[in-house]
This record gives sequence, C-alpha cells and structure tokens, in this order.
Amino acid sequence: MTEQSKSVLTGGCQCGAVRFAVSAPPARISICHCRMCQKASGAPFASFADIEQSDFSWTRGKPAAFQSSSIAERDFCADCGTPLSFRRIGGPKIEIMTGTFDRPDRLVPTRQFGTESRLGWVVGIANLPSQTTLQNYGPEKLGSVVSHQHPDHD
Ligand SMILES: [Zn+2]
Ligand SMILES: [Zn+2]
Repeated sequence: MTEQSKSVLTGGCQCGAVRFAVSAPPARISICHCRMCQKASGAPFASFADIEQSDFSWTRGKPAAFQSSSIAERDFCADCGTPLSFRRIGGPKIEIMTGTFDRPDRLVPTRQFGTESRLGWVVGIANLPSQTTLQNYGPEKLGSVVSHQHPDHD
C-alpha cells in the first residue's frame, strides 16, 4: 500500500502550507463551547476529532503552536492563521479541528463540552433564515471571486 492509500482522512490549513493525514478513524468527535476554544477558533464554538498521535502525521509543512495553558498547546498555520489542533502537552492524542478536514462532513460530533460558556442562541441556528453562498452573492459576483484557498485534497 502507498502512503496515500493508508490515509483514511486528510486535511490542512486554508493556504495549504500545512497538511495532515490520519490513518485510523477518530476515537471521538466533539464540540467544545469553552471560552478558550471560542478564542482559539475565533468562532462561537470549536469541533474536534480526537486522534492517537501514532495514527497522525503532518504531511506538508509544520504548524506553529501557542501554549494556551499550562497543560495544552494549540497548533495553527503561521502563514495563513488557520487554527488546526488542540494537544495536551506530552499526551497521546491530538485533537484536530474538524473544519480543516478535506471532508468535514465525515466528522460528526457525538458529544459537547464546555457548555458553561455555550452561547444561548447556538441551539437555534437551524431556524435562522438560510441562503447558500450562491444565493447570497449571486452568480455574477460569485463567478468573479478568485479563491486563494487550497483545494480539499493533497
Ligand atoms: Zn496555511
Ligand atoms: Zn474548549
């Protein structure tokens, strides 16, 4: 088997300078609403896939890291700023932010944590008025946009 075919999941940052591969299904997929995850993701909540370090590798580039507490570091792309992971220092796992996977639809959360900081409106987002990007921008404007995002594959 090639290295490529052993990867069950791949992903990376927005600019493509950092890419990763996972060789086994994640042990757990969860959402975290805690205040630190809100800050680190720049979003109302974060979602993570827990992966054994032995099943994980950075396949292009290396992320930078911020030690967000005495027990953990968070990896991010130094070139484009995409948040990539949460790791307990010296721990056996890496938690990869699910939006960075090439197929985020395959990472379905089954638990949520940090609910002391969960924003009250989060439970209602399915009820907000909804539009696709095409509906929001219109075909002419959307067609004129040049993406600088790395494609969803290596
Ligand atoms: Zn990047
Ligand atoms: Zn958190």
